[in-house]
Amino acid sequence: MDYKKYIKIVDNWPKEGIQFKDITPLMDNGKAFKAAVDEIVEFAREKDIDLVVGPEARGFIIGCPVSYALESGFAPVRKEGKLPREVIKVDYGLEYGENVLTIHKDAVKPGQRVLITDDLLATGGTIEATIKLVEELGGVVVGCAFLIELSYLNGLEKLDGYDVLTLMKY
Ligand code: 5GP
Repeated sequence: MDYKKYIKIVDNWPKEGIQFKDITPLMDNGKAFKAAVDEIVEFAREKDIDLVVGPEARGFIIGCPVSYALESGFAPVRKEGKLPREVIKVDYGLEYGENVLTIHKDAVKPGQRVLITDDLLATGGTIEATIKLVEELGGVVVGCAFLIELSYLNGLEKLDGYDVLTLMKY
């Protein structure tokens, strides 16, 4: 499917010089959204996934329907101060800012096979931080899936050795 026709490019948002890829028109189209989720489910199907992990907020949008289809669990990675129980945390750099990500300490059990999902791979900072959290808890990252990869930001370099699926490249 030509998913790109459902992505709106917004110039200078959220900052001057950023060309934001808006995925909401894709989510708004039931057939396109289902096809995208199904492709990620197919990618994950053979991997014997125990848990899907996604960073807020758009990682939830992709990860939750995938985990539902795989009948796996889903664990949220959130910004500092959002999760109610004991967390581990990691600092990371974003394409446009700095951040701290956290996960509940008991969200991933040692040896669990984890798929990480997000809407978009830019510099790779978010996925790198998410992988760190999962691996610190003893999880095994068996795949990373994104709707979009911004190839010119070289985020894939941070995912050397991981199995990566991206449905669109810019
Ligand atoms: P990275 O950490 O790889 O530099 O940035 C990826 C993260 O920032 C993802 O969680 C993604 O949701 C968000 N992000 C950065 N740029 C864009 C964009 O142009 N469109 C969307 N939808 N998300 C973006």
